[in-house]
Amino acid sequence: MSSTHLFDTYARMAVRFVRGEGVWLFDDQGERYLDALSGIAVCSLGHAHPQLAEALCDQAKTLWHTANIAHLPMQECLAAGLCAISGLDRVFLSNSGLEAVECAIKIARRHASAQHIEQPAILVASESFHGRSLASLSASGSAAIQEGFGPLVGEFIRVPFGDCEAATHAFRTHPNLVAALIEPVQGEGGVRVAPAGYLTHLRGLCDQHDALLMLDEIQCGMARTGRWFGYQHEPGLLPDVVTIAKALGNGMPIGACLATEKVAGLLPVGSHGTTFGGNPLACRVGLEVLAVMRSDHICERAETMGKRLLEQLQTQLSGHPHIVEIRGRGLMVGIEFDVDVAELKTRALHHKLIINVTRGRIIRLLPPLIVDETHIEQIVDTLAKVIEEHFADQAS
Ligand SMILES: *Cc1c(COP(=O)(O)O)cnc(C)c1O
Repeated sequence: MSSTHLFDTYARMAVRFVRGEGVWLFDDQGERYLDALSGIAVCSLGHAHPQLAEALCDQAKTLWHTANIAHLPMQECLAAGLCAISGLDRVFLSNSGLEAVECAIKIARRHASAQHIEQPAILVASESFHGRSLASLSASGSAAIQEGFGPLVGEFIRVPFGDCEAATHAFRTHPNLVAALIEPVQGEGGVRVAPAGYLTHLRGLCDQHDALLMLDEIQCGMARTGRWFGYQHEPGLLPDVVTIAKALGNGMPIGACLATEKVAGLLPVGSHGTTFGGNPLACRVGLEVLAVMRSDHICERAETMGKRLLEQLQTQLSGHPHIVEIRGRGLMVGIEFDVDVAELKTRALHHKLIINVTRGRIIRLLPPLIVDETHIEQIVDTLAKVIEEHFADQAS
């Protein structure tokens, strides 16, 4: 199934999807699959959502693009909506997640230069993932995605995720730290939820050292964890910068870097830009995503269904000799094994279930936030079967 004309950058599954509807994907043979991955936390409202499709078609007949040479009312509306749900004041619209991260890193650099810090550093976490541009892959905590791309962009100080003391120590020993860039729930790193109090601790350190708290919510944001943003599980916490993308467009490419008024002021006229970012097609869909998420109470749904998924997995799978932990928040759930289980992905596919295995040992579930009880049951039952089969085969 390999193509002769595409770069070989992806290990693709042996299936061709041609259509989607709600939580379902259909292949070119007409077979139906339950999607428990949502294109990696992107299609949170499901595939081919009628209201989103309608909005996109309507916009396609109205205005596609003008570049950022003039005011675009659609951008203003979307930015207002994002500020309302985040508590932040300003938005820079991009086309992808890594571009939002790139914007955040540039903000940190400007913050440093305003303080005349010539060799600034950013605090990042082990197992983090922030994208694959040179700066964002340098910020990521994975040797595999950095390999062969050196020299990396400096300087990132890496500390164990969730470890308050390590972060305190890093700020004490690196006076050049100007920001912390952290995922409230790590995605690629294996669905690791920041321990309670961790982000608030980082907030305190950043305040104390005049550094920016920058949270990467590209995977865990936009209602995935049961709140609009992962940091909203921490009472009263407000970061300086938040990056989002993935579910914001439900498949339409769009990202955003959100910031406080003061921090957004670090990027004045001419200091940053993009051709496509904030284009009316993407903004219209983003606006509609927000509207649907609001009217359908998607945050509450993600919370309820997420609890259900986690509980049912724990009931059915706990005690399995190779399962180390079943964890998650909202509809972001991970099942960690003590052995390599990358093969489960293919096995699940044979059972018409789409899942992901990250870091070789952790099943990652990111179903659409519109799942109901029957879908949850099907995910859990199928997974239990797939895991049982896998280890039975291993034993024989
Ligand atoms: C996916 C992801 C990114 C990168 O987003 P792209 O749109 O693929 O560039 C960055 N950070 C996190 C946490 C992500 O999950």
